[in-house]
Amino acid sequence: MEGGVQVRIVRFERQGATAYGRLEGELVFPLVGRPWERALSAGEAVPVGEVRLLAPCEPSKIVAVGRNYRAHAAELGNEVPAWPIIFLKPPTAVIGPDDAIVHPAASKNVHHEAELAVVIGRRCRHVRPEDVPSYVWGYTCGNDVTARDLQRLDEQWTRSKSFDTFCPLGPWIDTELDPADVPVTCRVNGVVRQSGRTRDMVFGVSTLVAFISEVMTLEPGDVILTGTPEGVGQLVPGDVVEVEIGGLGVLRNRVIEA
Ligand code: ZN
Repeated sequence: MEGGVQVRIVRFERQGATAYGRLEGELVFPLVGRPWERALSAGEAVPVGEVRLLAPCEPSKIVAVGRNYRAHAAELGNEVPAWPIIFLKPPTAVIGPDDAIVHPAASKNVHHEAELAVVIGRRCRHVRPEDVPSYVWGYTCGNDVTARDLQRLDEQWTRSKSFDTFCPLGPWIDTELDPADVPVTCRVNGVVRQSGRTRDMVFGVSTLVAFISEVMTLEPGDVILTGTPEGVGQLVPGDVVEVEIGGLGVLRNRVIEA
């Protein structure tokens, strides 16, 4: 952290109600209103151990970017694209920290993809790259879970990327992260599978958000998954997969059978 005050935003469930909150150490301070505009505290702080953390935002869409790290493109036998290759994941795929990834029976080869997730904070369209930071709410960890066999089988990626539970996000949004060069790590059962850095992205965050905003309106809470570094590999029921990105905590999910 250089200078800026670190702000961690969570969404949580407690006693049947859901709310946004600001995480400070082990305490969650509930927020009211639209926390991407202005975070107003309300009510008493609650120990984080007494709440269930949810995905930290509620995207109307998740826009993901394919082949955005050279070494990952190469490991799947692909060229690096000349422009960002984007695709959608549905909001119904989103799960939060500690939720289960359900391994679909239709696939024999489900992969993890650890990715820096950009969370939009203001509606935007036709944004210039230099203006992108003012439209970003913050950053969180994402896992672009993919049925690799179905991705190869189908002409396009919708089915392989869209199963329910295939978009873990969390545990919190950091509103102050500088995304230029942070480590992106994936562990499965404690063993490191992916270990990259965001500086190796082919297209950086500002380029990606500007490019996507030429296509579609981005809304507060929308998520951009910025691509995965090399080392993608298989997940099977019983595995525990962790995505850790510098300063953004650990996004941990268990894989279960459908
Ligand atoms: Zn991906």
